[in-house]
Amino acid sequence: MPDLHDRALGAYLGFAIGDALGATVEFMRPREIALQYGVHRDIVGGGWLKLPAGQVTDDTTMSLALGDALLAGGSAEVRRFLDGDDGLVRDIGKSYVRWLKARPVDCGNTCRRGIQRFLLEGSLEGPFNPGDGGNGALMRNLPAVLATLHLEEAFARLSLAQARLTHNYPLSDQATLGFGLLLRLLLSGADTTACQQWVAQWVDEHPEFRFAPYRGQATAYVVDTVQTVLHFLTLHDDFEAAMVATVNQGDDADTTGALLGMLAGARCGAAALPQRWLQRLQPATLQAITVQTQGLLSLSAALHALPIAPTPP
Ligand code: MN
Ligand code: MN
Repeated sequence: MPDLHDRALGAYLGFAIGDALGATVEFMRPREIALQYGVHRDIVGGGWLKLPAGQVTDDTTMSLALGDALLAGGSAEVRRFLDGDDGLVRDIGKSYVRWLKARPVDCGNTCRRGIQRFLLEGSLEGPFNPGDGGNGALMRNLPAVLATLHLEEAFARLSLAQARLTHNYPLSDQATLGFGLLLRLLLSGADTTACQQWVAQWVDEHPEFRFAPYRGQATAYVVDTVQTVLHFLTLHDDFEAAMVATVNQGDDADTTGALLGMLAGARCGAAALPQRWLQRLQPATLQAITVQTQGLLSLSAALHALPIAPTPP
């Protein structure tokens, strides 16, 4: 049984693998992918962003920006956030601003609009917007889950706060919380059966995300993204099989690939990830993810310890 650290690292590295692999076929139709690649299964770069092989996109770099802000504040700042202070959410917003100003290879429209609104007005969320149904808030939430593993209430509040900086749309919120809960379950060591049961029940409670029969839509609309990831996660037990099937569905393939990789990577652990994909990731990405995973797990443990820490004399 992989331990928590191996599962958490598996989730974050699996996420980056899916981003780097899927970016090659982002915005392509399955038929176009089949014509050009047969079955797309190698990290070769290219795609509409013309990436070098192994480079990740906004999915991974924006997640790292969230993780940076959480680590800079540490458990004390998360505790203050839980006590009602919004300093941490401002720090996350500032980290997204730095990320955007550093000219990332790509940035979704809703993310860009939300970051610019925060920069200009300082507001931590916009009004409800029917156009905020993209997957950008869901996509980057992994570090918030790792930082709050032992406190479910902290997980939910932090996830929604970081999400609302750019997206105010109920299905985005539900998807962000749902995938976070599923990731927590997988990190705790749930087996395939427990995972299937959890997904079946969650979809029962949130019928908009029902994915059987699978409609084959893998767009950046959060419902399509969630349905695609859950369909292939529950169809294939094997990381590689699930990943290849997901990215070959095309469309928002880097993001569906990343989220599939996060959940399937937590399920199998880092040690079971395909080496040929891991070795293709850029060393700086591997390094940043390894350091962040360790730091966020330590933050989570410290946060858990805080309420029972002895009061100073
Ligand atoms: Mn991307
Ligand atoms: Mn994408």
